[in-house]
Amino acid sequence: MRRPLVAGNWKMNGSRTESAALLERVKKGMSSASKAEAVVCPPYVLIPLAAEKLAGSVVVWGGQNLSAHKSGAFTGEISGPMLKDYGCTYVIVGHSERRTLYGENDALVAEKYGAAQAAKLTPILCVGETLREREANQTETVVARQLDTVIEKHGIGSFKNAVIAYEPVWAIGTGKTATPQQAQDVHRFIRSRLASRDEAVADNIRILYGGSMKGSNARELLAQPDIDGGLIGGASLQAEEFLMICRAAD
Ligand code: PEP
Repeated sequence: MRRPLVAGNWKMNGSRTESAALLERVKKGMSSASKAEAVVCPPYVLIPLAAEKLAGSVVVWGGQNLSAHKSGAFTGEISGPMLKDYGCTYVIVGHSERRTLYGENDALVAEKYGAAQAAKLTPILCVGETLREREANQTETVVARQLDTVIEKHGIGSFKNAVIAYEPVWAIGTGKTATPQQAQDVHRFIRSRLASRDEAVADNIRILYGGSMKGSNARELLAQPDIDGGLIGGASLQAEEFLMICRAAD
C-alpha cells in the first residue's frame, strides 16, 4: 500500500555543470512506470536548475532544510514558501548534520516540520541515535523523544502528510550500514509508536532508512517489511547508484 520513496540528499555538493549532467541522467534513467517515487534534494542555489531540468519528468525535487519562519529579517535563511515557489514537493527536516553541526534541537526541528507543512511541503523528518547512544541501549529512547516532540506540537494527524527517515548517525557517510535487522527493528519501533496513537496513520506513513545505502545493499534493506525507501547521501551523487536504489525500491 505504501509507495516506496527514494530521496537523494546532495548535501553541499555539485557545480551547475555537474548537477545539470546528474539531473539529466537521473531523469533519463527513471522509468515513468516506476512504482517508486524519486526525489532529489540539491543545495538551495541549484533548486531552480532542478526545477528546469526535471519539469515534466517523474522525478520531483525538494529542499535539504528550511527556516522555521515564513519571511523577514533572517539573514541567510530560506523559507518554506520560497521552496514551494520553486516547485519543491519535499523538504528534509532535522537531518543529523543540522542537529549536530548547527545546534538544531528537537523543539526547533518540530517548528521546522510545522513550517514545511504550512507551506504545503511534505517534511522528511529525520530521527536517529549516535553510536554512543546505541551502545548505551538508548536507541529507542532517543528516537521516541525526537518523534514525540513533533507529535506533541503538531498532533498525530500531521503525520498523514509526512515521511520519516530513520538515520542512525553512526551510519551516515561512514560506509557502515545498519544490518537489515537492526534497521527493521527501529522502523518497527517507530511504526508501533505511531500506531499507539493512530493505527491508520502508522500503516500509511513511509519510513525511509538512511545511512550508507547504496546500489549493492539497497535490496536487502528495502526487503524489510517496515522499510519503505531510502534517504541517500553519497550514493545520490552518482546517477547509476541512485537509479540502482530506485530500481531496488520499485
Ligand atoms: C544522509 O546524509 O542522509 C545519508 C544517509 O548519507 P549517506 O548515504 O552518505 O550515509
